[in-house]
Amino acid sequence: MSKARLLQHSSTILCATGGFACIFVVVSVIMSTDEPRELSRRTEISLAAVEDYVIKNINPENIRQFLRYLTRQPHLGGTEAEKEVAQWVAHTWQQQGLDQVHLVPYHVLLSYPDPIIPNLVRIVDGENNTAWVSAARQKPLYAPEEASLDIPFTFNGYAAHGNVTGDVVYAYYGREQDFDFLAKSGINISSKIVLARYGKIFRANIAKMAETKGAVGVVLYSDPADYAPNGSDFVYPHSSYMPPSAAPFGTVKLVDGDPLTPFYPATESAFHIPEEEAPIPKIPVQPIGYEDAWQILSRMGGTVAPVDWQGSLNITYHLGPGFVNPGWTLNLDVNNNNTQTTTHNVVGIITGHEEPDRYVILGNHLDAWILGALDPNSGTAAMLELSRVLLQLHNETGWRPRRSLVFCGWGAEEYGIVASVEWTEQFGKQLSDRTIAYLNVDMAIEGNYTLRTQSTPLLTDAIFQSAQRIPNPDPVELAAGRKTVYDTWKARRPDRHQSDKPQMQFIGSGSDYKGFQHNLGIPCMDICYTHDNNTIGDPMYHTLYETFALVDEIYDKGFYFHSAVTALWGDLAVVLAESKILPFSLVTYATFIIGAQQDIFENYGELISSQNISWQFFADAAQAFNASVAVFTESLNTLDLNSDLAVRRVNDQLMMVERAFIDPLGLPGRPEYK
Ligand SMILES: [Zn+2]
Repeated sequence: MSKARLLQHSSTILCATGGFACIFVVVSVIMSTDEPRELSRRTEISLAAVEDYVIKNINPENIRQFLRYLTRQPHLGGTEAEKEVAQWVAHTWQQQGLDQVHLVPYHVLLSYPDPIIPNLVRIVDGENNTAWVSAARQKPLYAPEEASLDIPFTFNGYAAHGNVTGDVVYAYYGREQDFDFLAKSGINISSKIVLARYGKIFRANIAKMAETKGAVGVVLYSDPADYAPNGSDFVYPHSSYMPPSAAPFGTVKLVDGDPLTPFYPATESAFHIPEEEAPIPKIPVQPIGYEDAWQILSRMGGTVAPVDWQGSLNITYHLGPGFVNPGWTLNLDVNNNNTQTTTHNVVGIITGHEEPDRYVILGNHLDAWILGALDPNSGTAAMLELSRVLLQLHNETGWRPRRSLVFCGWGAEEYGIVASVEWTEQFGKQLSDRTIAYLNVDMAIEGNYTLRTQSTPLLTDAIFQSAQRIPNPDPVELAAGRKTVYDTWKARRPDRHQSDKPQMQFIGSGSDYKGFQHNLGIPCMDICYTHDNNTIGDPMYHTLYETFALVDEIYDKGFYFHSAVTALWGDLAVVLAESKILPFSLVTYATFIIGAQQDIFENYGELISSQNISWQFFADAAQAFNASVAVFTESLNTLDLNSDLAVRRVNDQLMMVERAFIDPLGLPGRPEYK
């Protein structure tokens, strides 16, 4: 074991090589494994041989062991348990032999349930007695760790502390059109408690809309129609469908990053705005299980809800307001506290040989709402095995990538992408100047059916090509003649317009790629093996039942799907770090923009014309981009690949393409989306 030492730094040092060493010294604590050392040699190994090595050397049992360790206890963002995970990841990378390993702390506002007084929902009768009270915690059903005393009381992150009583109104999925329907039906939600279903929109938007319309509280639940469609016998631990006591956690904060340091890193020296001004909910919000939602819904009065608003609980759903029994009310008692605390990122680097100042960044978050076996630790386990394989190749042969590979474990993602956004705020200028791509794996698996990917169009072709190299982890699919991950992906989830290609979703903003893609214009992607559960998302998402046993016994016996995702992630990273000319799909990007431009025109053309706005400028710009892409692509044919300057010039142009779409002022009313 190497002797880790902690260095205190207080100033910025510019270093000549321009590597990460210079940008991290501004953080207060740096962990270093060693005295500064000469970069060990680079052996020339073909890209194909490196790819082959990575794919063949991933060991599923290692991933299993990493996941077993990571899921033994809850590790909420900003807690001692999260810090222990961060230190363990740092230690693992030091042992594997990464060139540098850093812990990067941020002082941020997070939110926790009270350790003693649980959050409860009560039905109160006409004489002020409690007729029913909700569960404080989700019931342990199978794995021993579900019963740990460290499991937090059920809560939504940043839901306001408060005790409110009122009539309950059922608001379906809590979307704008659902609140509009209630208003049209003559149901005013002012001073009411809204009961809404998870599933169609981000829960923070439900809370915000309810608060804006005057509701005093929100209760969220997941209807079995959406998350347990095959009935109560087919739920965890017998299947991966949601059991009645599952109450998914989740943040109800809308703005990403630390709420007290908007647009600036939450370092010790940062100015923090007062908490009253923070963009967080002002009303209490609380998740409950569907067995508890039944207790409320089965007692509700008022108009019968429309047919499509009915769920699959064995009752007729009513809109309210209030209960059948006169004088009965709903009480919501939320005892969460907002706390300024420290969360940590871990950053580990394999320094590139020819271009150390060009970074291919890989990342996954470390914090989990509870045990986190899928979200995020299936991804953490994959990342640790990938770094192990790359270091093994280095140790055996002296291989080193052309460009630097940077591995990141992020803190407090679940609270609204906190510590990765702070990092992109702190190091934005350097990252913008030097980063080739950011490759995120929030979860390696949430099922075993097919690949789910999100990407900027710039990375689409590279992802397709890597997926064609990864052996199919599914024996049934292999027997059907589909040899690779790509083959199953194309067969089970084809593109809607071109059925000879798999479906690639455009990158969103729901994980740690947000700061890279939407603030800095760094090309991003996210991959995951997903399910075909006929549910709205993963039924176990953010519940107590995301256990090691769920993964080990139901989703991925043998960890072959984890291995496939690890191999795909690694292959793509190696291709981006090693290719002499960056494998960015400019033609795909130009085609995407022209298609998107036409889609917008078809859907909103009339509205745009009615505002006296000309569409022609956008159409011309899209065509001009397409023409430039053709000229640039043509010029690559005559590029002198032996000229380091010529290669660097072309790669720099490619690296900056995505940045060209960044508007420093952001979207109107949403300055955090640039
Ligand atoms: Zn996650």
